[in-house]
Amino acid sequence: MAYDPSKRGRATSSVHGGELRQQEANAITTPIYQTSTFWFQNSQEVMDYQEGKTDREEYGRYGNPTWRAVERKLSELEAGEESVLFASGMCAATTTFLALLPTGSHLIVTNDCYRRTRQFIDEFLGRMGVEVSIIEPSNLAAFEAALRDDTVLFFTESPTNPYLRVTDVPAFVEVAHARGVKVVMDSTFATPVNQRTLEEGADLVIHSATKYLAGHNDLLAGTVTGSSEIVEPIRKALGVLGGIIDSHCAWLLLRGLKTLSLRMERHNRNGDALARFLESHPKVRRVWYPGLESHPDHEIAKRAMLGFGGVVTFEIDTDLAGAIRFIDATRIPYQAPSLGGVESLIELPVTMSFWDYTPEQRQSWGITDSLVRLACGVEAQEDLIADIDQALSHV
Ligand SMILES: *Cc1c(COP(=O)(O)O)cnc(C)c1O
Repeated sequence: MAYDPSKRGRATSSVHGGELRQQEANAITTPIYQTSTFWFQNSQEVMDYQEGKTDREEYGRYGNPTWRAVERKLSELEAGEESVLFASGMCAATTTFLALLPTGSHLIVTNDCYRRTRQFIDEFLGRMGVEVSIIEPSNLAAFEAALRDDTVLFFTESPTNPYLRVTDVPAFVEVAHARGVKVVMDSTFATPVNQRTLEEGADLVIHSATKYLAGHNDLLAGTVTGSSEIVEPIRKALGVLGGIIDSHCAWLLLRGLKTLSLRMERHNRNGDALARFLESHPKVRRVWYPGLESHPDHEIAKRAMLGFGGVVTFEIDTDLAGAIRFIDATRIPYQAPSLGGVESLIELPVTMSFWDYTPEQRQSWGITDSLVRLACGVEAQEDLIADIDQALSHV
């Protein structure tokens, strides 16, 4: 059987994708190019570069060979033409919106999108005269009703936070494309290992690489991947707005990505095991996990996802004080925002991400006092179950 690099598996792409086989000094790994600028031997080289005759770097805000390796790896993993890195997931989202939305255009988003993204849309895009319609996740009829002649983008996350709602991407893409609307998916919770978002027809995939892509709770970064036609204007906007990743951080992301496929196998197994354990626990009212038959989007998830990730959301049969007794009694997960790293993290959305909202707002989003989000790391499944079980006895 011949080895075909263009059809290699996700695990091989995680390790080898984007890496130059021949490195300086025959090293195996890509170096950290710690330089702010790149010099030219003479004026002819400058002019050749300006005319696009040579492929090289110019100034650190426009590119660096360490990031290029990450961008190539990610493009291979997502099956996209081109990728760009950013200083954070938020920077990836905001730069994308600024690059793709003309003044006075119309945008459709879902009501459970990342709250800082929602804040950017309200506070900043409004100033540019961009109008926004907000729909329920996965509601195709609401999406069709919200479409206007000046709609430019549909933006959603899948799975969403914290209820892990899963979008039927091909169905939304068909309706959107018929009206000339581009579909942008925040696939942070899915990763290219668990969902083939671009192959399902989405135009652009955004990640907070801070989460699973980097995977070690040790850096912040963002990425976008899509066709060169859609990515190039975003890259140009990044060169102006300046939210670039630094080369050491890009190198850590490159290192993290090498084990993405391996880590996701364990995150998926731990998520599934914890979801099933919690669903059968008498002190747990309800569990949201796309791999569970009881999840509202289980059928879509089964079709679209190759694994369901490490995040499990559940509601304990108690009040805020009981939920606090539970979370303070856990010993393995750290109580912290974020997800996707090797260390398990746990939070009460009511005290963490949603504290500065009114009880009415929280209620409208379904954020109850005893809701818990557990982001399983890669620890041993039995240890996580034993720890959550003992903590539940404190409720
Ligand atoms: C964390 C997160 C973001 C923001 O990314 P940062 O890297 O923290 O800026 C955006 N979208 C989703 C779904 C996230 O989980």
